[in-house]
Amino acid sequence: MADSDSDYIASSGDEAPKSKSNKTGKRGKRAGREKPRERWEEIQRAWDLGLEDDNIESTISELLEAGKKRRLLKDETPLQRGIIRHLVLILDLSVAMAEKDLRPTRYLLSLRYACDFVREFFEQNPISQMAVVGMRDGIAIRISDMGGNPQTHVDAIQKLRLDDPDGSPSLQNALEMARGALFHTPSHGTREVVIIYGALWSADPGDIHTTIRSLVADKIRVAVVGLAAQVSICKELVRITNAGDTSSYTVALNEVHFREKLLEATTPPVTRTQKMSANGLLMMGFPSRIVERTASLCACHSQMNKGGYLCSRCGTKVCQLPCECPACGLTLILSTHLARSYHHLFPLKNWLEVSWTEARRSTHCFSCQSAFPPPPAAALKDTPDAERQPAKTGSSTSISSRYKCPDCGMHFCVDCDVFCHEILYNCPGCQSLGDEKPARTTRGKKRARELSEGGAGAPPPPPPPAPPEPEPMVID
Ligand SMILES: [Zn+2]
Ligand SMILES: [Zn+2]
Ligand SMILES: [Zn+2]
Ligand SMILES: [Zn+2]
Repeated sequence: MADSDSDYIASSGDEAPKSKSNKTGKRGKRAGREKPRERWEEIQRAWDLGLEDDNIESTISELLEAGKKRRLLKDETPLQRGIIRHLVLILDLSVAMAEKDLRPTRYLLSLRYACDFVREFFEQNPISQMAVVGMRDGIAIRISDMGGNPQTHVDAIQKLRLDDPDGSPSLQNALEMARGALFHTPSHGTREVVIIYGALWSADPGDIHTTIRSLVADKIRVAVVGLAAQVSICKELVRITNAGDTSSYTVALNEVHFREKLLEATTPPVTRTQKMSANGLLMMGFPSRIVERTASLCACHSQMNKGGYLCSRCGTKVCQLPCECPACGLTLILSTHLARSYHHLFPLKNWLEVSWTEARRSTHCFSCQSAFPPPPAAALKDTPDAERQPAKTGSSTSISSRYKCPDCGMHFCVDCDVFCHEILYNCPGCQSLGDEKPARTTRGKKRARELSEGGAGAPPPPPPPAPPEPEPMVID
């Protein structure tokens, strides 16, 4: 933001185009007075960037790369996270959602993103459970019950498309219903509430502060994504239930920002208190799939089917995993579900930008073999200018279109960077050069062993000593 601002003012001098001169003049004066910029002034549109004809192509490709890269800069500190989560998603279905400031309407957009959220949540947290609650007509309505099957939630949310948003939202009623849904969840998992809130008011039957206090007593954390403006009670709610941290309350600036902030809640939260992180044993069953000659009823839905899984303790048939055995209450999962939750605990390091001087080392992406742009002549001569160039890129994009893994030092393109950090969760360089890096390989093997052995442990084993100690997990 700051970059584009200074660029803009610089160009507003003598040779600004006539058509713009009025506007830029005003802006220049405003900047001269050094008045602090309001939030709404910082919204950046593509046409504000001042594209010039000669470098329009490179600017566009830079913008595309920046967009891809922006999602990647995640916190890479290995922290203890609660990977068994219980979450209630609260949707605002009140009349405030009929606004069209988000296209097509707040209502339809938030339903669509809620479905995306459900799918992404179970993709990232396959051994977790969630429920969906709506706020409409001053009451809370149950949309889907606590469960681990994404399709039931998505179907329930999609049914809402037929209705219109109506009435007032009641934050207190919805929170009380969420508290009820989370009340019986086991203590080894997290308890979370995520709210999509479009209204600027709440019609509550009682004192909401009492509800907030009971949420704290029940160890429930609340995250809110607002669609209109900041609401004091939402901020208060987030601050109190997250031990003073308000970072999980955001107001969406536009559609993309809304989606980004909502999907942020799919990453498991950091374990905060010592008590929560105390190791405990959790019983889990790993049933294998059976195929029967004749159809029989499953215990979970009472539906006839010919296949399923038999509970490893009591032999009850269930039709899908993960689930809790309806007869004996044992958690039944597949080992692949555990493996999928695992990458949150040891995130892949962020890859670094590569300067032109260093870029000479590679001509192709190590992973997909696509060609990199050749270094410009200036960079080859080791001029001080070329040395300075990477530092100038204030954004996260690399000037040489190369990204380097800090461990193996290989260069990758931005697409591989995105793919490895969002889907693969491994570095192709580190994996294929395993033999040449003995220190890390042993650690990798140890991790793999921990994963296969520690399958039944709820909280993960503490990560191997990494440079930053897990102390920075304290949120203030
Ligand atoms: Zn079933
Ligand atoms: Zn059972
Ligand atoms: Zn590549
Ligand atoms: Zn690597």
